[in-house]
Amino acid sequence: MWGRSAQPLASDRDNGAVSESPDVLIIGGGLIGLAIAWRASALGLRVTVIDPHPGEGASWSAAGMLAPISEAHFGEEALTRLNLAAAEAYPAFIEELEAETGTGCGYRRCGALVVGFDADDMRVLDDLAQLQRRLGLAFERLGGRACRELEPMLAPAVSGGLHELLAAL
Ligand SMILES: Cc1cc2nc3c(=O)[nH]c(=O)nc-3n(C[C@H](O)[C@H](O)[C@H](O)COP(=O)(O)OP(=O)(O)OC[C@H]3O[C@@H](n4cnc5c(N)ncnc54)[C@H](O)[C@@H]3O)c2cc1C
Repeated sequence: MWGRSAQPLASDRDNGAVSESPDVLIIGGGLIGLAIAWRASALGLRVTVIDPHPGEGASWSAAGMLAPISEAHFGEEALTRLNLAAAEAYPAFIEELEAETGTGCGYRRCGALVVGFDADDMRVLDDLAQLQRRLGLAFERLGGRACRELEPMLAPAVSGGLHELLAAL
């Protein structure tokens, strides 16, 4: 059986296809499996990725947002630190990937905007802002008009938002 792989599985060897076995066998060729495969292969390891539908799992559905500040939640301070470190490392990772593949991936470092409509939503945003302030994260609290200036497609009923300033990190 072959996935989209650099190396064959045992069944192929049994058929006399190729004789070498991989150093690393990765089951699942989504973002995570393929990133690991790329790095392992760059280290000189023989890598096989097995996946009947590579790149068609959650990685295909994802919006591609990295929003470590607006996704910071109470009780998840350690995760927030990890997310921030990952977001910091990401541009260099993307630059390397684009240079190696010659393909742009459309990554933009533009922050994220969380918006709300009514008074309850504003209270949630205020709580989030309080947490973000305590964690020393870079954000600004905006009214509805300022949110629509940033994102004109927002509904007129949006009454406020939190804008994470990832670019300022
Ligand atoms: C709707 C949606 C929106 C999202 N938006 C974001 C976002 O904006 N930002 C963000 O950071 N994250 C987002 N995520 C989360 C993100 O998509 C996942 O965290 C990420 O894609 C996980 O990558 P993965 O490689 O682990 O999984 P996947 O991309 O799902 O890859 C798993 C692979 O394993 C394969 N597989 C499964 N079973 C087997 C098997 N038995 N044998 C061989 N292969 C198998 C599948 O075919 C698949 O290709 C979103 C997720 C969803 C669903």
